[in-house]
Amino acid sequence: MRHCPRCGGVLTQAPPVVCGACSYATYVNPRPSGGVVLLRGDEFLAIRRVRPPREGHWDLPSGFCDSFEHPASAAVREAREELGVEIELGDFAGMYIGAYEFQGESLPVLDCFWLATIATGEITLDPAEASEYAWFRLDSPPEMAFRTMDAVLRDVMTSRSSVRLVP
Ligand SMILES: [Zn+2]
Repeated sequence: MRHCPRCGGVLTQAPPVVCGACSYATYVNPRPSGGVVLLRGDEFLAIRRVRPPREGHWDLPSGFCDSFEHPASAAVREAREELGVEIELGDFAGMYIGAYEFQGESLPVLDCFWLATIATGEITLDPAEASEYAWFRLDSPPEMAFRTMDAVLRDVMTSRSSVRLVP
């Protein structure tokens, strides 16, 4: 970020920085997202991204919070939008700081994940979001689009014996 988002003045350093022209303070905070490890027995669902960043890589259903939206609500909404199903959230699976490369910037993100199951509906992918889906065993996940997803899958697998899904 090179310009003040309020007045457009040139910033003298990377954030955190106070604009010399209008005194507006600019920070770069992590952006929260909500996502799910959607379970079916010992398997989880992954979808293949069709949009950058990381186009073509396996992804968990997830997305950024809109405005004041809670990450859990974002997770439910994203599953509805990307998969066409209603999900039931189970235990919180973890949150991870990651990097999201977009529009020439590396943005800090706070990715929050829940375990979930499909409550109602059949999976119908939004072709603007994903080209295919697959169920993978939790003990042999593919490399995911984002390191935060590799991490949550590892943690879910490690803690599996102590994790319970809401029935
Ligand atoms: Zn300014």
